[in-house]
Amino acid sequence: MKVAFVASEAIPHAKTGGLADVAGTLPVYLKKIGIDTSIFLPKYRGMKGSFLCNVEIEMRERLKIRIYTDGIYYFIDYPEFFDRQGLYGSEKGDYPDNCERFTLFCKAVSEFIENNGYDLVHCHDWQTGLIPVYVKLKGINAKTVFTIHNLGYQGQFSISNSAVLDIPQDYFGSEGMEHHGKINFLKTGILHSDVITTVSENYAKEIQTPDLGFGLDAVLRKRSRSLIGIINGIDYNLWNPRTDDFIYQKYDNYENKQKNKICLSNECNIELQRPLIGMISRIADQKGFDLLMKAFDSIVHMGFNLVLLGVGDEHYYGKLRTYERVYPHRVSINIKFDNKLAHRIYAGSDFFLMPSKYEPCGLGQLISLKYGTVPVVRKTGGLADSIAEFDRDAMSGNGFLFAEYAAEDLLRALAESYEVYSNKDIFKILSEKCMSYDFSWDASAEKYRSLYESLSSLKPRNLSSR
Ligand code: ADP
Repeated sequence: MKVAFVASEAIPHAKTGGLADVAGTLPVYLKKIGIDTSIFLPKYRGMKGSFLCNVEIEMRERLKIRIYTDGIYYFIDYPEFFDRQGLYGSEKGDYPDNCERFTLFCKAVSEFIENNGYDLVHCHDWQTGLIPVYVKLKGINAKTVFTIHNLGYQGQFSISNSAVLDIPQDYFGSEGMEHHGKINFLKTGILHSDVITTVSENYAKEIQTPDLGFGLDAVLRKRSRSLIGIINGIDYNLWNPRTDDFIYQKYDNYENKQKNKICLSNECNIELQRPLIGMISRIADQKGFDLLMKAFDSIVHMGFNLVLLGVGDEHYYGKLRTYERVYPHRVSINIKFDNKLAHRIYAGSDFFLMPSKYEPCGLGQLISLKYGTVPVVRKTGGLADSIAEFDRDAMSGNGFLFAEYAAEDLLRALAESYEVYSNKDIFKILSEKCMSYDFSWDASAEKYRSLYESLSSLKPRNLSSR
């Protein structure tokens, strides 16, 4: 089976978040089990490959788009749109021409797919949401899977952009590609793909409720029979304390992990004698930063130290930096994207905090488990699917959870974590128990394979616009 994986980011070429980990790793695991998978990306600044061919598309005028390749990757080259500093925007905000940028991307990929005989196109997130429509309109004999990595980002654009899309008028309207009067790329992907997946079973249920449906819950409920959740995995070739070249000392037990805490504390100028919380996260409301701000002083007063690595919403930066000044040697704020430091924080922290408002899957908690860094998470989405409350009598569970999106609840979970930390013997058992969990991609890749195979026997969906 020949599969085209289409995404706006994938490691090792371009990454702003978990999508890149998934889009760069899952195809490798699919290949291992016999699915011939290629990955399509925009050719962003600095990406290199060898020239493969041109495709021609219509974007108000006829354009020739160059396609480059590097191993299993195919890059869509249009420098005017993609040779830029950022993937989606600059410090001023999203690029104003994102609608055109990703329309061009979708058209060029669809054109290439039409010419090169793929059995299935697996699209990821709003940037690829138009592809299932183009596949239908072109009559391409390929099934489409659309994966939602985060329903909060939908690619919504003014209807004045509609001409550039080249999609018939009856596909628009509120029952079609529009939502509240805007073109909505994510809704388009949901409506027109053969199957929709999302990145955990729990999130697949949550997005069908008004609370976490971001206005699209009714649309998702309508397609609920074609909507499934498959949890993401982790690439243990990249994330494994036994083999990790970025960390200070490789380890496979709690004692050797301690060397990493000592070195990380040194590097981040943090005193050593307290439990250390690590956070590696986009700085965004979604990730619970408003909650963190409310609880910050209490977390430090409770006795924790904290090291944070992240970039994102600048309105949090000032306050975070203030905490670093107010709590010298207790708090380290690192506002940057830094893969090496990320590895070191996973290895050197005692706890990993994810107080997310919502979390489709979450990779941080899965990575931190492997590093014996105990997750403290809000019970939502994939966090609820992967972390179970530690019970010291039964010695069951692998972390600490809180349900309400409230500072008191977060602090209650941290108080419990602190208590367990205070008993070194129990904490060591818990840390090493965490290391033993297996969230490798093998099991999830198998699930995608069965999905792909079940689709290949499916009759083509009709060409209706809804
Ligand atoms: P997201 O919603 O951002 O996709 P995930 O938990 O699914 O969240 O994935 C985030 C990924 O990005 C993880 O691999 C995490 O380690 C990494 N990451 C996030 N912020 C940074 C940063 N500032 N520097 C390095 N890695 C980061």
